[in-house]
Amino acid sequence: MYDIIIIGAGPAGMTAAIYARRASKSVLVLEAKSYGGQIVSTPDIENYPAEPHISGFDFATRLYEQATALGAEFRFEKAVEIRVEGKVRTVVTARGSYEAGALIIATGSECRRLGLPNEDELVGRGVSYCATCDGAFFKKKTVAVVGGGNTALEDALYLADLAETVYLIHRRDEFRGEDATVAKLKERENVRFVFNSTVTALKAEKKLTAIEVTNKSGEVTELEVNGLFVAVGRIPENRNFASLISLDEAGYAKASENCRTDTPGVFVAGDNRTKEVRQLVTAAADGATAATEAVKYLASL
Ligand code: NAP
Repeated sequence: MYDIIIIGAGPAGMTAAIYARRASKSVLVLEAKSYGGQIVSTPDIENYPAEPHISGFDFATRLYEQATALGAEFRFEKAVEIRVEGKVRTVVTARGSYEAGALIIATGSECRRLGLPNEDELVGRGVSYCATCDGAFFKKKTVAVVGGGNTALEDALYLADLAETVYLIHRRDEFRGEDATVAKLKERENVRFVFNSTVTALKAEKKLTAIEVTNKSGEVTELEVNGLFVAVGRIPENRNFASLISLDEAGYAKASENCRTDTPGVFVAGDNRTKEVRQLVTAAADGATAATEAVKYLASL
């Protein structure tokens, strides 16, 4: 029986582990893949306070070492179910089950992929899912953003300040995202709208060199680009916990800034919860908050 089980060893989960251990709680961190989460795919983090340059992998490794040095236990097992019985919260994994007084779900979210054959191998070589993370690598270059929601619109606006040309490619002729952002984009001379079109192929010679775009009439155009920012929505990793926590329409766990869910003793931290800003620094902040709230909850039992 642990005091706190944390599901997910990304920045939110590992920060929660640090805070929980510093409050002298026994901590088990369960992770389905390897530690670090989404941040390990970022080549250079430039927006974490007091850390002007660090690779995502180095950042995650330092966080992992910090949490383990403080005594957090890690097991690399996928949590497939959670149960609540009285004061006991149980996490079932593929290999066994573990009990705790409180749970923190910090499983993050996955960017939806376009599903193109060479998409995965070009991540970090022209294909990105995070304009604020990787935009600076495309100063004065030509980039494309695909998607029509607020993320795509905001990414295009952010990139318009850096890149020479930004193509914004959307599969319909009307954006899902806010009109106010669309109006700002229309004022930018270096933003070109490509409507009723989808990206159907990625051309590369080691790095991305061009994209093939197909419109609704079947017409195919090749655009030479250095970067492609994919912003076609996210998939929060909450499916296995939906029986105990309320999710919004997009699948994010409903919780406010205190990271409490509607099930007592079950907290949620990081990208899988409803929030406005999904960044490394806000994931870490959630980890601190969720652990602090979990410690308060245990003290109240
Ligand atoms: P989203 O709102 O779900 O939009 C995803 C976009 O990608 C849609 O325009 C969709 O097209 C398109 N799309 C989906 N699958 C596609 C595919 N396979 N190929 C091409 N296009 C595809 O996702 P999001 O922009 O990441 O935003 C997620 C949530 O966060 C939203 O509620 C959004 O409002 C919110 N958000 C808010 C802010 C803010 O308030 N500042 C900033 C960012 C995000 P269709 O439109 O045709 O479906």
